[in-house]
Amino acid sequence: MPLDVHALLTARAAQLNADLAEASAETILDHALRDARLGEVAMVSSFGADSVVLLHLLAQIDPTRPVLFLETGMLFSETLAYQREVAETLGLTDIRVIRPDAADLFMHDPDGELNRVDTDACCAIRKVKPLELSLQGFDAWITGRKRIHGGARASLPLFEVDGPHIKINPLAKWSGAELAAYMERHALPRHPLVANGFTSIGCAPCTTSTLPGEDPRAGRWRASEKAECGIHFDGARIWPASPKTDASL
Ligand code: SF4
Repeated sequence: MPLDVHALLTARAAQLNADLAEASAETILDHALRDARLGEVAMVSSFGADSVVLLHLLAQIDPTRPVLFLETGMLFSETLAYQREVAETLGLTDIRVIRPDAADLFMHDPDGELNRVDTDACCAIRKVKPLELSLQGFDAWITGRKRIHGGARASLPLFEVDGPHIKINPLAKWSGAELAAYMERHALPRHPLVANGFTSIGCAPCTTSTLPGEDPRAGRWRASEKAECGIHFDGARIWPASPKTDASL
């Protein structure tokens, strides 16, 4: 990406952060969906533990807006059922199910065991690459990340630049109590695994429940230093340009 484009996006994100610093999540989302400077905007959702809050906010403004759902092939069956339930309940009409490339799986993870030996490579072909390809038609995307997730997310801005996109984080400042209150106020359906102690829900092989007091994402890649799947690394992608022939994946 030419440097001037990155500079332009950085300045735009900084201006949006300043303009909307005190705005509500509803206002931020509404602005993001209407501001022509942000171009084509999609939401990306895992349909995880508290995804329904942002999806509900979206449904109030524009239920026809594209929602990208990464179906890695490793998700809990409960997540797949919940995705359908939430889409129907909220009236979301453009859920786009994004799947890994079949040839990549055949070449690099034919038995579905790659997650046991190389989680970065597995995330690269099951998450990072499919999402990057699906985002090519968009200028900006909306995420459900929050500062309460801790780690690198503790200082999450409302607007940020990630490669050729601006990312929008309307719920960045929300607390767990605010999320719970919103779900209760609107009687929103809960992911069934929440009742079993899952506070952040990703792929089944890489997600465990958490104990009271633990970081909400402590159950993701537990006993590993890995904390992110790679889709939020500010453009520093980990899948190579020609992954199908790279045996090191
Ligand atoms: S979270 Fe685990 S199973 Fe899912 S893509 Fe990453 S390594 Fe693979």
